[in-house]
Formats: sequence, structure tokens, C-alpha cells
Amino acid sequence: MNLILLGPPGAGKGTQSDWLRDTYNLRKLATGDILREAAASGSDLGNHVKEIMASGKLVSDDIMINLIRECISAPSSANGFILDGFPRTLAQAEALDTMLKEEGKKLNHVIELEVDDAILVGRISGRYSCAKCGAGYHDDYRKPAKVGVCDSCGSVEFSRREDDNASTVSKRLEGYHAMTAPLLPYYETRGILKSVDGMAGIDEVSRQLKAILAA
Ligand code: AMP
Repeated sequence: MNLILLGPPGAGKGTQSDWLRDTYNLRKLATGDILREAAASGSDLGNHVKEIMASGKLVSDDIMINLIRECISAPSSANGFILDGFPRTLAQAEALDTMLKEEGKKLNHVIELEVDDAILVGRISGRYSCAKCGAGYHDDYRKPAKVGVCDSCGSVEFSRREDDNASTVSKRLEGYHAMTAPLLPYYETRGILKSVDGMAGIDEVSRQLKAILAA
């Protein structure tokens, strides 16, 4: 099963793609995470994308398409994958169609997490993650069971993303509406677009996803 999660920054794609990965044994391909790892490693790619990401702009289609091509053709994607953060432009969506065709694969569902812009800034500015295992948390909506200790791995180190600040977030939202929202009609005309209420609680959104995948 191959899925795309679409939605603005802060819609909950990361949280739900973790759940989908664990529940359906799929490979999670989160391009933002892959780029952040590259940036932290100091690789040529990482050095190139670091500033672009910090400014809230998009990395070039060529770089992203080559990156995702490698991931999709890897044996670890054989049971299926969830794309979180890709495609983000029509050029990326068209390239994805071509590479899936070449690989003899298809998209089963493209699922939009619908969330009003008004609540996204609050969601984004409160989020943080475990510095060791990457588990995601939020100051208000998703606190660890024991304050200051990661539920998943017990680490006490946490970090916040450099681009999760109010001014970068509004640029990222503008970019979403200008460049990524046109993907909704693109997939709707192919009959594979579904929507869930991304403003519902985390468990309720997972329940809605499960219903779509079971249908
Ligand atoms: P995310 O974690 O998905 O919010 O992505 C963080 C940042 O990585 C974005 O603001 C972009 O700068 C970059 N990025 C991630 N995925 C893509 C993509 N598919 N196309 C272009 N830039 C991307």
C-alpha cells in the first residue's frame, strides 16, 4: 500500500505517518526529516539545503525528485510507503507518477489532513521532539507521560525545529497554498483523493485514516 499525506505544515502529517508506519508496517518517507538529517550531517546536500529550509522556502524540484527516487526504489519500500512532505509541487507530483510507473507501483490513496490556517501557527510553535529517537510532542496537545522524559526511548533531551517560528511559518503556509494546494485537484481528478478532519484529536484522525484504508 502506497500513500501520500497532504496538508499544510502543522496539520499532523508527521504524527499520523508515524502511526501509519507502525500500524501497517509501511516505510515512512518524510522529506523534511531526510533533509534535516542531511543538514545535521554536514554533507554537501545538507550544507546546500540548510539555509533554504531555515528561510521557509522550498528546496529545488530536481534535488527532491532524485532524493525520493532512491527511497522509492529501495527494497525497504517494497511493502509500501507513506510520503510525508512530498510531493509539494506539481512538477514533483508528475515526476512521482513517472517513477512509480517505471517501478510498476501505484498510489492507493492521497489523504488530505484539512486544518484551518488560524490554528496552525499555535500548533507549530508548540511542537518539539525527542533529540534521540525523534518522537514528536507538543506543549499543549501531546505532552510526555512523565514531564521531561521521552515516552518512546526515555531520553531527557528534546529539540525544536529551527524553522518552527512565527515568521517562517507564515512563509511556509503561503508556500503551501501557492505551490502544494494545487495538488488537491490533481489527485481528485484521478479519483484517489480522500480528506480527513485534521482538527480532530490525534486518535480520532487515526480512526478516520483507518476507515479510509479499510474501505
Ligand atoms: P517539513 O518537515 O515537511 O515541514 O519540511 C521542512 C522543509 O524542508 C520545508 O520547509 C522545505 O524547505 C524542505 N522540504 C521538505 N520537503 C520538500 C519538498 N518535497 N520540496 C521542497 N522542499 C521540501
